Amino acid sequence: MAFAFLLAWAIIKVRRQTNGAIDKGLVMTSCIVVLDSVSRATYFTFFTGLSNDFADFADSAYNLAVHLTTITVCMFFPVSALAAIGHTALERYRRAAETDELTGLLNRRGLRQAIEQQRGSTRHGALIVCDIDHFKRINDGYGHSFGDEVIRGLAEDMRQVVGPHGCTARYGGEEFVAFLPGLDLVEARDLAQALRGAFFERAWVAFDVTEHFTVSCGVAAVGADDTRLEAAFERGDRALYAAKAAGRNRVFVEGGEINRDVGGHLQPVLGSVRFAE
Ligand code: GH3
Ligand code: MG
Ligand code: MG
Repeated sequence: MAFAFLLAWAIIKVRRQTNGAIDKGLVMTSCIVVLDSVSRATYFTFFTGLSNDFADFADSAYNLAVHLTTITVCMFFPVSALAAIGHTALERYRRAAETDELTGLLNRRGLRQAIEQQRGSTRHGALIVCDIDHFKRINDGYGHSFGDEVIRGLAEDMRQVVGPHGCTARYGGEEFVAFLPGLDLVEARDLAQALRGAFFERAWVAFDVTEHFTVSCGVAAVGADDTRLEAAFERGDRALYAAKAAGRNRVFVEGGEINRDVGGHLQPVLGSVRFAE
C-alpha cells in the first residue's frame, strides 16, 4: 500500500510533464500498478480472513493474485513502451513527410492535410497564393544559397503575418500558400497586403545585399460548398498571374472587383523592383 501511494505521488508529480506517447504509456501503466495494489490490498485486508502464519502465504489467494497481477503488469510495461516507441516513430515520419525542410512550414501534402482537418469545423475561408518576383534573377545575381535565404525570409514573414489566422505552406520553389479559415476576401487581401509590405521592408544587408525584393499575391475564396480545393487553388493562381502581368509587387483578388480600396483608389504599391540591367 505504501508503495502504491509513493507511486501515485510520483505520477501526480510527473503527469503534467509527460512528453509524447512513451511517457504517456508509462504513466498509464503506472496508474494500473497503483490501482492494482490499492484494490488488492483493500480486498484482502477487509473482505478475506487474515493469517499471520507465514506458511499459509504460499497457498494463499493473495499470493496467487500478487503473482498474476505482477506477471500482467510486467507484460504491460514492455508492450506499452514498444507501442509508444512505434507511435512516436510514425508521428515523426508523418511530420517529416508534411514539413518543408528549408523553411519548416508545411509542404503541399501537409497543407492539404491541414485544410482537410480544418474544413471539418470551418468549411469556408480564403487562400493566398504568392510567388517571389524575379526570383531567377535573385538566384543568378547572388547565388542559390542566398536565394534560399530569401525563401526563408518570406516563410518567416508568412509565419508572422498569417500566424494565428490560418496555416501556411511552401507549395514548391518560391511559391507559398496560406489557407485562412473563416476569413472573407477583403480580410484575406489585407493580410496579403501586410505580407507584401513586410517582405518588401526586409533588409538583406547582413548578406551584403542592399536591394529590396518583392512578392506578388493572388487571393481566392474557398466556399463552404467548394468540394474540390483544386478549383480554389486555380482561382488563386489565376489572380497571382494577373498580379504578375500587371507589373508584380501587388495583390490581386479573384474576379478583381475588390482590388480597389474603400475609397475606390488603386491599392498602393510599396516600392518597386530594382535590379541592375
Ligand atoms: P516571376 O516574377 O514571374 O515569378 O519570375 P521568377 O524568376 O521568380 O520565375 P519563377 O517563379 O518561375 O522562378 C522559379 C525559380 O525558383 C526557378 C528555380 O531555379 C528557383 N528555385 C526553385 N526552388 C528553389 C530553391 O529551393 N532554392 C533556390 N535558391 N531556388 C529555387
Ligand atoms: Mg517567382
Ligand atoms: Mg515560381
